[in-house]
Amino acid sequence: MTLEEKIGQLCLLNGAGGHIPDHLRQEIAAGRVGAVLNEVDLGTVNELQRIAVEESPSGIPLLIGRDVIHGFHTVFPLPLGQAASWNPELIERCARIAAAEAAAAGVNWTFAPMVDIGRDPRWGRIAETLGEDPFLASALAVAMVRGFQGEDPSQPGRIAACAKHFAGYGASESGRDYNTTDIPEIELRNVHLPPFRAAVEAGVVSLMTSFSDLNGVPATANDFLLERVLREEWGFDGFVVSDWESVPQLAVHGLTADDRESALAAASAGLDMEMASTTFREHLAGLVEEGKISTGRIDAMAAHVLRAKLRLGLFEDPYSGTASWRPPADLDPAGAAREAALGSLVLLANRDRALPLAKPFLGSLAVIGPMADEPVEQLGTWIFDGDPARSVTPLRALREYLGPDVEVRYERALDTTRSRSDEGFPQAVEAARSSDVALLFLGEESILSGEAHSRADVRLPGIQERLISELSATGTPLILVVLAGRPLALESVVDEVAAILYAWHPGSMGGPAIVDVLFGEASPSGRLPVTFPRVTGQIPIYYAHKNTGKPPTPETVVHIDDIPRDAEQLSAGGSSFHLDAGYTPLWPFGHGLSYTEVSYSNLRTSRESVPPGVSLTVEVEVANVGDREGDEVVQLYVRDPVASVTRPVRELKGFRRVRLAPGESRTVSFELHPDDLAFHGRDMRPRTEPGRFHVWVGGSSAAQLRTEFEIGHPSED
Ligand code: BGC
Repeated sequence: MTLEEKIGQLCLLNGAGGHIPDHLRQEIAAGRVGAVLNEVDLGTVNELQRIAVEESPSGIPLLIGRDVIHGFHTVFPLPLGQAASWNPELIERCARIAAAEAAAAGVNWTFAPMVDIGRDPRWGRIAETLGEDPFLASALAVAMVRGFQGEDPSQPGRIAACAKHFAGYGASESGRDYNTTDIPEIELRNVHLPPFRAAVEAGVVSLMTSFSDLNGVPATANDFLLERVLREEWGFDGFVVSDWESVPQLAVHGLTADDRESALAAASAGLDMEMASTTFREHLAGLVEEGKISTGRIDAMAAHVLRAKLRLGLFEDPYSGTASWRPPADLDPAGAAREAALGSLVLLANRDRALPLAKPFLGSLAVIGPMADEPVEQLGTWIFDGDPARSVTPLRALREYLGPDVEVRYERALDTTRSRSDEGFPQAVEAARSSDVALLFLGEESILSGEAHSRADVRLPGIQERLISELSATGTPLILVVLAGRPLALESVVDEVAAILYAWHPGSMGGPAIVDVLFGEASPSGRLPVTFPRVTGQIPIYYAHKNTGKPPTPETVVHIDDIPRDAEQLSAGGSSFHLDAGYTPLWPFGHGLSYTEVSYSNLRTSRESVPPGVSLTVEVEVANVGDREGDEVVQLYVRDPVASVTRPVRELKGFRRVRLAPGESRTVSFELHPDDLAFHGRDMRPRTEPGRFHVWVGGSSAAQLRTEFEIGHPSED
């Protein structure tokens, strides 16, 4: 290959959607393009491949990339919603179906999974994350990589995955998208990098850099991330692509003076492929001539890309997974979409067992709100190829479920969730007043989350809170179903409604899944993958926080309304809380109710003390003491209370989903290896320190059942 052809492999250009402009045809034929994104017309993709294979000098096929984020034609819940299922097997199946549908359109590379840690609900892209926790996100990232790639990404219906955005994007200051991130290396290693590492260990073909500036060096030119961590420490042999035009943006950040310097900075730092912009194409050859970049470096970059093409089997069959292949019927996309939507639903509150509604339902029902019947809005962000015709809305599903004999009165009340006109309120209030139950479908449309759609205030937008108050004054029980791409701060409405079901953006089959839960056809089993704040000002609020030197307790908290007029400024006895919000979230990470009740008992470890390097087993009895079958997500948390650097008050280290019949009791066991307790210390190396550990097992991060064990010192072997 000539230098120009090698550089061609490093260029990812945007397609035109259904046709091939002359310049693209010529560039591909000249061997100056390695990959194309956003082309999903099968005939056009095949023609692009044909030009590459038959007309370009070395005949190297193309990568065809697309954002297949949570489904392709069939849309599954948002990644954050999928994460609420805490169900890797289900998530793997969804990714497999998405891959199969995308492969049938000629796509061989998805820009997913997004594995950024999301701890800020203001950030619109929290919707695309797998939540706030590195352990959960790692497990689910692996499931997605497996679902997309299978054991062998060259198999029909499998595509290459891309773990993104490396790294730290989720920590954008104030949740404003693309904003600066300042993350100490120790936190980067303990919190933000583990899901990327898990994806790398699972064999992910590619990584994408983040748009953001990490500690003064934008990720796209960050050699610490791209060389030291990714290649030297983790041994990654796939390729790294930039984000959309993030190479020329290095100059906008202020790291470089112009495109030439940007190309030099990115390529020298370890980036392999440039997305959408063309600074590599324009400047790398000149930089090689000048001796600023070695040919060895260009060879390595091209080799990373070519290795991916080999892994995908593109040299054997560039058209593989396209013309002759269709998703096998046994993948059942609609069934999986319904199962995934069901798994994502989190019952946050259920006063006096307001849910499930009676079965058969003989009363009258009001359905109120702008999210009840919106086939597109329930799909969420990043659904370029989603087919709204496959959507079943909650209203439609309700009518189908209840049949013609039950009166369902539908009032939209608001044009959109952000509308400020209350013209529709009187009819909605009247509908609620004259019905036995009112189902409210509120939240946020798709456009209020996702890329470049961050919010500074995460309450229900517009005048939805007032709508809830007015409906609540009717005395009719209100069931609030929230469709949204982020955790919303619901404290001000929680007492006005009887139950809250959080549905995220549930995808194509959201309607039937919601109806199944409302009427008790299924017990809700989703658990929060992210902490829900009471008010925006608590953000960032997450369960795995540090203890501080003045940890709050119920006794030390003072509420702003209780401060006497003549109160003196006293710091003694003070602790870490907000005067107007306390210190607890509205709902903790891991929380989610079901229709049954589960009790935990007899938490024990196989040994009180283990020598270093030896595993121990943690066991607990989990009993369904309610009167219905239900799934419980049994969660194990650990704390290292004394360490050479301060450690979080709790960290998730295991979870298991168990289905329990009424009265059934089961022993659930977890194997804990000392490596599972490792963290990066002051020297930035992973270590497990001897000493006592606390362990909790229960149904959320607020679990109370606790025991302890000890890891012995090496000398005590
Ligand atoms: C996003 C990426 C995405 C890319 C290609 C960018 O704006 O940040 O996540 O994969 O566009 O569409």
